[in-house]
Amino acid sequence: ALTTGIVGLPNVGKSTLFNAITQAGAEAANYPFATIDPNVGIVEVPDERLQVLTELVNPKKTTPTAFEFTDIAGIVEGASHGEGLGNKFLSHIREVDAISHVVRCFEGGDITHVSGSVDPVRDIEVINLELILADLETVTKRMEKVEKQAKSKDKDALAEHAVLEKLVKALEAEKPARSVTLDEDEHKIAKGFQLLTMKPILYVANVSEEDLLHEEDNEYVQRVREVAASEGAEVITICANIESEIAELDGEDRESFLEDLGLAEAGLDRLIRAAYELLGLNTYFTAGEQEVRAWTIRKGTKAPQAAGVIHTDFERGFIRAEVVAYDDLASYGSMPKAKEAGKVRLEGKEYVVQDGDVIYFRFNV
Ligand code: GDP
Repeated sequence: ALTTGIVGLPNVGKSTLFNAITQAGAEAANYPFATIDPNVGIVEVPDERLQVLTELVNPKKTTPTAFEFTDIAGIVEGASHGEGLGNKFLSHIREVDAISHVVRCFEGGDITHVSGSVDPVRDIEVINLELILADLETVTKRMEKVEKQAKSKDKDALAEHAVLEKLVKALEAEKPARSVTLDEDEHKIAKGFQLLTMKPILYVANVSEEDLLHEEDNEYVQRVREVAASEGAEVITICANIESEIAELDGEDRESFLEDLGLAEAGLDRLIRAAYELLGLNTYFTAGEQEVRAWTIRKGTKAPQAAGVIHTDFERGFIRAEVVAYDDLASYGSMPKAKEAGKVRLEGKEYVVQDGDVIYFRFNV
């Protein structure tokens, strides 16, 4: 299963946030892919479309889709040289598909920061530098190998060499690999190196309770936004302390707590959606009388493989997919009416499933 790793320096609120995630988290039993690991939290993806489909279909049960956050143990400076937890830290990052980097944007007299002061840009640089140095080692080693082949004018080796040169240049300038502009072919080559700083990232600015509604007043957040913009990354502002309180509530209690705080939704929900997007995931639905359910696929997945997410038999015996776009189903109000209007399509093996498709799979057993 795809997962987002939560990283951050000590005392930035990482554990508080991760606790909120596991508190609010989903029952592993509903999700066969789920890893049973104390460092993994399963989150359900909030999706208003599920409620609408539930009202239309009136099923016995409604199941959101879910994915995982992984809590990555602390980093110390010098990690890339194997100091302290360093090596472990890097190998954990290697295993995740995207990174959520928590940075401290709140002051607090009694809560000490590892470096003695609050400076989120420095925090970002400390971690990024460790990842950059590890990547530099990776590409340098690869470069040595490829250089020999490139001398013989091997076409693939030359192409790889060119990509490596671009990467080395950026990494030496202490810039992450993701900041390098690459065309599609180059990108494919670069992906093969499995660089840590190539993984998609989002920054989670952890602010104080007071600043949550007035983040524009928080200078730290503004600086994080500048760094993120330079990398083409996104920033989510949350207050981890409040999230851990929200996570303990549900139903009406939760609604009224959010309302009292003046929040439209929990920060965690925003974070979940942003991480889902960051991982390049889409949602499709099945809507039967037994169950209305959301399913996760990678963007670009074709119908048989999308069916395979439900059951391998669905993929093996795939015949066709009966597909209606969520918007069409919602606006026509029922499957028969959508059909009448010609909005229900029969799609074959090559059909690329779109976000929001409501699908009924036909398959042989
Ligand atoms: P970690 O070392 O990054 O896992 O940090 P923790 O989650 O243990 O948090 C460190 C300290 O900061 C704890 O005392 C938290 O209560 C406090 N803290 C975390 N998030 C917030 C927040 O949003 N606002 C404030 N004021 N304190 C926070």
